[in-house]
Amino acid sequence: MGIRILIVEDEKNLVKLLRGYFEKEGFEVYEALDGDAALEMARKAEPEVVVLDWMLPGLSGMGVLRELRRFSQAYVIMLTARTEEVDRIVGLSGGADDYVTKPFSPGELVARIRAMLRRPRGGDSEARKPLELGELTIDPESREVRLRGEPVNLTTLEFDLISVLASRPGFVFSRSRLLERVWGENYFGSDHVVDVHVANLRKKIEEDPANPRYVETVRGVGYRFAKR
Ligand code: CA
Repeated sequence: MGIRILIVEDEKNLVKLLRGYFEKEGFEVYEALDGDAALEMARKAEPEVVVLDWMLPGLSGMGVLRELRRFSQAYVIMLTARTEEVDRIVGLSGGADDYVTKPFSPGELVARIRAMLRRPRGGDSEARKPLELGELTIDPESREVRLRGEPVNLTTLEFDLISVLASRPGFVFSRSRLLERVWGENYFGSDHVVDVHVANLRKKIEEDPANPRYVETVRGVGYRFAKR
């Protein structure tokens, strides 16, 4: 039996096109037209590879990826419409294994998938290695954070927040950038929500939340993870 591959994309013509290419490769093809259907199908078909469109109706590509990572080890290749999205996708913990920017040639996509399958799982992907920062360890694979070896109980959002910040120690993330990367592009609300969650996060990881060692405030701009 061939590689099981799940196409998650709402553009029916593209799904049809990809299905043709994948079947020619001998892949066993599954499809889902929206995020919820994608998760249901991923549970049922247990694909080895998921081709995931970033822009989906309902649950976004990011939302699907986040949920998928809770139960699936599938390789994920994202389809993105704009190059600006790439940085967001790659930077996020539990992120995609690869991406292609639309428009792309199906032949190129197949080549990328073949290359991805040859790589050992998580082998050369920096993003999947646990990050060790001071007494803090952040493991993107298990989505676990440990402080001096003790597990810290973070919410999904807090985990995503610390992962984004810690992905680039010393880099200042503005509130709007954090909103975009953690909450997603469909979030409409006050920047203040970032402060609230940073405060909660600090209570869990900082010895003295008023005098943080890990998540620093950059006045008037946003937050950064301390470089050490
Ligand atoms: Ca789409």
